Amino acid sequence: MSSTDDGAGGEYDHCCKVGRVADDHSLSPGVGGGVNEYLAARWRGDDDYPETSLAELVEWFDRRVMGTVYRANDRLATDSRLAAEYDTLRSDDEVDRSLLVDDLAEDGIDGDALRGDFVSVATMYRHLTDCLGVSKPDADGRSDSDWEADKIAYAVETARENIADALQSWENKGTVPFATDASIGVRVTLECPVCHRQVSVERARERGHVCETHMTEGAGPPDRY
Ligand SMILES: [Zn+2]
Ligand SMILES: [Zn+2]
Repeated sequence: MSSTDDGAGGEYDHCCKVGRVADDHSLSPGVGGGVNEYLAARWRGDDDYPETSLAELVEWFDRRVMGTVYRANDRLATDSRLAAEYDTLRSDDEVDRSLLVDDLAEDGIDGDALRGDFVSVATMYRHLTDCLGVSKPDADGRSDSDWEADKIAYAVETARENIADALQSWENKGTVPFATDASIGVRVTLECPVCHRQVSVERARERGHVCETHMTEGAGPPDRY
């Protein structure tokens, strides 16, 4: 079965995949209000919630789906178990994953279907902005805003979806057999213009520089000759 993330469109009775999955599982945030209000409030940082990145919202959503399915099938749903098994279900390690899928099957849970209900960052973004019409408050000096990380995650996810479409077509035409069975790695790499050392964009953000030798406040701007 396909775990293609449809995003908007193609889901006639629902706004998009997020709406369908939330409905299918009668998802509730566990606090007052509905899932949509909860997602919007956390994303914007309203109602005393700390402003939350799309990646974290996706994780919350997917795990909430897992927990609901687990409890419906009398499978223990502790936070630590959900976290570990969520990582396994999403991982590219076929062996680990199929072990877990077998284990889930013993509890009457279709692990592949569960995985197919997981949503992507791009889909969550479209759900919030297009379906719900939510927008982030403008840059208003909030220091905890992580829109930059959201923007990069969205770009990477969109690239991955577009590449997957191209692979599907190549597979259909026989240009590249079994192309859709490949896992797609999209990595954003930054390079120092002086020494050409490379670093992932996430790592650069984490450590606060692209190149320690040529591109820190102390080192000054890189010489480009
Ligand atoms: Zn939607
Ligand atoms: Zn350098």
